[in-house]
Amino acid sequence: MTDKSNLSAIPSVDAVLAHLDERGLGAIQPRPIAVRLVREILEAERGAMIAGECRHGESDESVRAGILAEVEAEIVRSPARGLVPVINATGIVVHTNLGRAPLSAEAVASIAEIARGYSNLEYDLIRGTRGKRDYLVRDAICELTGAEDALVVNNNAAAVLLVLNTLAPGREVIVSRGELIEIGGSFRLPDVFERSGSRMVEVGTTNRTHLSDFRDAIRSSTGALLSAHWSNYSISGFVERVSLNELASLGEHFGIPVIHDLGSGILADPAKLGLSGEMTVRESVSAGVTVSTFSGDKILGGPQAGIAVGTESAISRMRANPLMRALRPGKLTLAALSATLRSYLRGEAETAVPVLSAIMAPLDSLGRRSDEMARSLASSLGDRARVSVVELEGLVGGGAAPERVIPSRGVQIEPRCGVSAGSVTSTMLTASPAVVARTHEDRVIVDLRTVYESQDTAVVAALLCAFEEE
Ligand SMILES: *Cc1c(COP(=O)(O)O)cnc(C)c1O
Repeated sequence: MTDKSNLSAIPSVDAVLAHLDERGLGAIQPRPIAVRLVREILEAERGAMIAGECRHGESDESVRAGILAEVEAEIVRSPARGLVPVINATGIVVHTNLGRAPLSAEAVASIAEIARGYSNLEYDLIRGTRGKRDYLVRDAICELTGAEDALVVNNNAAAVLLVLNTLAPGREVIVSRGELIEIGGSFRLPDVFERSGSRMVEVGTTNRTHLSDFRDAIRSSTGALLSAHWSNYSISGFVERVSLNELASLGEHFGIPVIHDLGSGILADPAKLGLSGEMTVRESVSAGVTVSTFSGDKILGGPQAGIAVGTESAISRMRANPLMRALRPGKLTLAALSATLRSYLRGEAETAVPVLSAIMAPLDSLGRRSDEMARSLASSLGDRARVSVVELEGLVGGGAAPERVIPSRGVQIEPRCGVSAGSVTSTMLTASPAVVARTHEDRVIVDLRTVYESQDTAVVAALLCAFEEE
């Protein structure tokens, strides 16, 4: 069915812009971008009307109102705004889509201070000559991990690329079939191998790999042995893995470097984080691995960065690799990383680093906040929704510790007024800041583990507003 009669109800670009100004939304995007977005939305609307896909039989007034509401929602949520803060009500602490680790106050202050002016990024203040940016965090990393040497690149994928390209270019790298990982955002270990110039040799099977599988595959062309953390999956049942100690001894025996991709770099005590059994960076180093690599913005709780620690000879070769220039971190990253590491060195990380304090937030305080939030929502929503406090299972997330759930508390909102939970969460994304919540069986789930206490009122406001709009 085609209904073109409403085409004339589509407002002009100028009329829409004037409406946005009236609603106080005119400055949300720079004008040229707003014009472009509005034009795109109106064109899409016109196309859909011509195709008979929407707004049949609506009055001109309702067509116009519908379009204006749509523009408002789109312009607030458009990625063209650039980065905007959001409230993470998912309970996933290291959420890659939401920017992974929130930084400590000290890291944020350090970024601001360094960003504002000049710094000793590559200037040696002792000699008054050119220095190296690596050395700004090396001592701290070595102290915290027990490694001989350390370097920093843009992310862990870069660290893996650099270590393979440095230690095993044109050579074979032996890896267990059980560890050929793909993590989110299309980081596939085999693809990185290929780009690094080394050749992958798979040994063992998906569920079982023995030390002898590695030993039997070693040839004169072997460049390295590699072990990678199962960051985002687990295998259980009839399973055998080669321990890192065994792999390190094998490498040492044959004079072949051993690389360990830890994924998440844990510097804190895993038991305190409820992550007993997860390997720390220090344990990886002391197993005798040549180079261990990990992310700066997973459980470590710092900025996006890749850190490689290991023997002095391996790390200095990596530092001399021309690729280093392409992979090196910027000064703001180093400022934040250095500040984050200082919190660890002072023994204050558990309170200062938000990822750690979120993982360790006690259930009773989350429960108390959930009670308060539920009470306030219930009294405002009345019979439009059933509100209750629920026990939840949060996640460390971010390809950090896959099967590790953290018991959590939050609020469940079951709409009762013909509104779907999905439309409520979608409208919550138009709040400022946007609130990202989950849905489950047509209920909105707000997990407070990842919400700062200071954000509780904003979450309530976004929820109420979403119900008002429906
Ligand atoms: C997360 C992860 C990576 C990639 O790290 P980025 O810092 O995101 O580049 C590589 N390997 C493993 C095992 C991981 O968990």
